[in-house]
Amino acid sequence: MKKLGFPRKRFGQHFLQDNQIVQRIVAAIAPQPEQHLVEIGPGKGALTLPLLQQGAVLDVIELDRELIEWLKQKANIFKELSIHQADVLKFDFKQLVRKGQRLRVVGNLPYNISTPLLFYLLNYANDIQDMIFMLQKEVVDRLIAAPATSDYGRLSVMLQYHCRIEKIFDVNPNAFYPPPKVDSSVVQLIPYSTPPVEVMNQKHFAQVVALAFSQRRKTLRNTLKRLFDIEDIQAVGINPKARAETLTLNEFAQLANVVTLREAM
Ligand code: SAM
Repeated sequence: MKKLGFPRKRFGQHFLQDNQIVQRIVAAIAPQPEQHLVEIGPGKGALTLPLLQQGAVLDVIELDRELIEWLKQKANIFKELSIHQADVLKFDFKQLVRKGQRLRVVGNLPYNISTPLLFYLLNYANDIQDMIFMLQKEVVDRLIAAPATSDYGRLSVMLQYHCRIEKIFDVNPNAFYPPPKVDSSVVQLIPYSTPPVEVMNQKHFAQVVALAFSQRRKTLRNTLKRLFDIEDIQAVGINPKARAETLTLNEFAQLANVVTLREAM
């Protein structure tokens, strides 16, 4: 088998080498033969092979051609494996959905693209049963952050609107080769069939959240002035002198619904 080159930094390559951590992730995923799994960034197969050994039906998406060749040779005995050489940020997940069966998306993600990737996956939330990811701990802290904390921001609001989120466990840098400079965490995201707050138009919701957090130190009357008068903000019971980081999901939904109702008039 051809020897692999050094891990590529630009592809965020940190390979899992701690078998106990691999086993804990596979146990958290607990694949069932009737489920359809998709792994992002299989790399050298640290998660892929044990998932296949448990009988998973698995599609993997990997950008690095060299790793694809390696994986093909290592996993050619598993006919339940389909390998896609692609940039996950451009990958059409819809093509994998069969007979309305929702996907379970998993992976030890490349940290350099994790935030845009989480937003990208929201486009497919209706086709996803759950997601179990290894991410930078700091990103997981932001995903689960509550209002009025320093970690709370656009990522928290948008992901918490779409998914129930639970941190599973933390992982030390030594579990990887080469070790990343940051701590990691494994997290599960389960898309809601009915979101926790009522939003009339998701585009308006995304627009209000993005604008409110565009300058997080500023008050809402400043950041949102393109969309709302002070009176509009007060009318839904929000203090215009408050900052975005203090608003609950429901308050963002109420502001977005003002925009929707206004456009409908
Ligand atoms: N799953 C392996 C493991 O746990 O050892 C590798 C994880 S490594 C942190 C991230 C993997 O994602 C690498 O294999 C890398 O080549 C791949 N990757 C990076 N950018 C990608 C992209 N845009 N699309 C698909 N895969 C990507």
